[in-house]
Amino acid sequence: GRPSGLVTTRTTCGYCGVGCALDVLTRGDELVAALPAGDGPVNRGHACVKGRFAYGFRVSEERLTRPLVRRDGRLEPAGWDEALDVVARGLREAVASGGPDAVAAISSARATNEENYLVQKFMRTVIGTNNVDNCSRLCHAPSAAGLTAAFGLPGGTDCFDDAQRADCLLVVGANPAEAHPVVGARLLQRVLRGARLVVADPRAVGLALHADVHLRPRPGTNVALFHGLAHVLLAEGLADEDFLRRRATGLPELAELLAGYPPHRVSAVTGVPEGDLVAAARLYGRAARPAVFYGLGVTEHLHGTDGVRALANLAILRGAVGGDRGYGVNPLRGQNNVQGASDMGALPDQLPGCQSVTDPVARERAARLWRAEVPARPGLRIPQMFAAARSGALRALWVIGEDVCATDPDARRVAAALEACPLVVCDELFPSETARRADVVLPVASWLEKDGTFVNFDRRFQRVRPALAPPGEARSDFAVVHAVAAALGADLGCPTPAAALDECAALAPLFAGLSHARLDREGAVCWPAPDADRPGEARLYRERFATADGLAHLSACPYLPPGEEPDDDYPLVLVTGRRWAHYNSGSMTRRGGNLRLDAVDRLDLHPVDAAGHGLRDGDPVTVESRHGTARLTVHVGEETAPGQAFCAFHFPGSGVNTLTSDRADTVTSCPEYKVTAVRLRP
Ligand code: SF4
Repeated sequence: GRPSGLVTTRTTCGYCGVGCALDVLTRGDELVAALPAGDGPVNRGHACVKGRFAYGFRVSEERLTRPLVRRDGRLEPAGWDEALDVVARGLREAVASGGPDAVAAISSARATNEENYLVQKFMRTVIGTNNVDNCSRLCHAPSAAGLTAAFGLPGGTDCFDDAQRADCLLVVGANPAEAHPVVGARLLQRVLRGARLVVADPRAVGLALHADVHLRPRPGTNVALFHGLAHVLLAEGLADEDFLRRRATGLPELAELLAGYPPHRVSAVTGVPEGDLVAAARLYGRAARPAVFYGLGVTEHLHGTDGVRALANLAILRGAVGGDRGYGVNPLRGQNNVQGASDMGALPDQLPGCQSVTDPVARERAARLWRAEVPARPGLRIPQMFAAARSGALRALWVIGEDVCATDPDARRVAAALEACPLVVCDELFPSETARRADVVLPVASWLEKDGTFVNFDRRFQRVRPALAPPGEARSDFAVVHAVAAALGADLGCPTPAAALDECAALAPLFAGLSHARLDREGAVCWPAPDADRPGEARLYRERFATADGLAHLSACPYLPPGEEPDDDYPLVLVTGRRWAHYNSGSMTRRGGNLRLDAVDRLDLHPVDAAGHGLRDGDPVTVESRHGTARLTVHVGEETAPGQAFCAFHFPGSGVNTLTSDRADTVTSCPEYKVTAVRLRP
């Protein structure tokens, strides 16, 4: 029943990790509507205000349509030939003066799987370095490390549809109602149909308002909280002893540790009332099929990996993973392809398909396929790249789709790193904070203009199809990586995105059964998908875990305090996160109708703290930390706990990430975005 002249393109939303299937309607080069697909595997006819309406950015006057090259200190329009020549010359000079490890690339969830695959192949085979990383470093790197340590693979343990059969949901450090609205709505639907709900999050928003028990731990105390819950499970006989005997290891060490986490002590550390802690543990512990969903409130901490491992302990103690007695532990990814960027090997220590660069067998397989040596030494992580740039060791940095000067912590030091680096190349849609500091800016296609695949939060490969051509001279990142390689005299092979996924499938056993043709036929396939003739594994670990011994590993990691505590000088704890209308640095969602829904970065304060500072709703306020200063607009409400403040990072002009520190998870270098001591000046 659609009007004639409209073309419908089925694609996957490029914003959050839910990965909603959308039907994009176009007429000529005009985008008419983005409609949620009724048969979308996760969204089933739903979409949120971002996927549904935030496409006006495509035709923004600020959209980059020609390459820019810095001449005499100013970025000026240039042709592709000149821009590629400058990039190639700069890369050659960097390698000549500092060796291959003087070059690094930061890829991102803005790039498709095939683009991420090509970037890491370029860095490893043409430049000869493992210095490639992606934005998961800033969000879910602790998930990959923690889930791998517990179960053997870096993805969530179950698919969303299965988890929808859970009778108790434990939602931790996440606000899916705003950050993953379609999942938030489906979880709420489950609760309205009778599932019990425990929310552990400092803020009283979204699902927390519907919880049977809402735990509000002090930011930075998650590990103590999870150990407190585990203590009750053991003390009250709610652990699955048969499962622990057959399928898990590490119980004696954990039990010894948990003896030190009785509810009264955990209550003193976390601020969670003892009775609430016990009630939450009983709900989770007595459910027939519990499931855990968690977000960045678990990972973005000084001990974020420990947080994931301590959360995994709960599912293992209950035997609620790898069988029929529950739906494991599932990270809610903030960006659609952040899982895929890592799966494709855009990581300094991993080849495609979660294969370590230190594994000689995996390296040999890649070397044979790529006809090039693969360096064995793990490369630099993103924060190490910035440090190397500031020290002069890094001579060239290629940033693909990530506004590092707006979204990375301690933004002033990031800017200093870029200024110190002789060549900064930036693939971008807009003149972002990072692009403004680059030497060469390459205009690229958005998710509405690309061909490839994304992997969403439940390990689901889905097709991304171009509904429109990129504007002006903009090209896909896929074409750009090929062009840079060609400018250096190299041929990366795999001329099309479909060929790139085929090559990845040949290299990575986890993806061996995947191809564009299969996804076009079947719509979506979860990995592991080792066989083209069998469905992907939506639920993991039915037979054995993917650890070396086939067992789930309990973790006896002690609680350690956050890197920063409030004090007399900086008495409030700032937590950063997301709002419903915008996405990350807001570069796309601010350039369209969504700006009318949410027009500034607000600082949420409890009425007691607002009154204590003489602030009222709507007042401007200066926020100061030991690292920087931001200007925000006060919002007063009881959703924020006393002594805390909350803001998003959707408007780079407000300077939120000058406030955050460069402290990071001790295992993965994921920033401690969730705990910054601040003070206010009206
Ligand atoms: Fe779906 Fe997330 Fe896109 Fe919203 S932003 S439409 S929930 S994928």
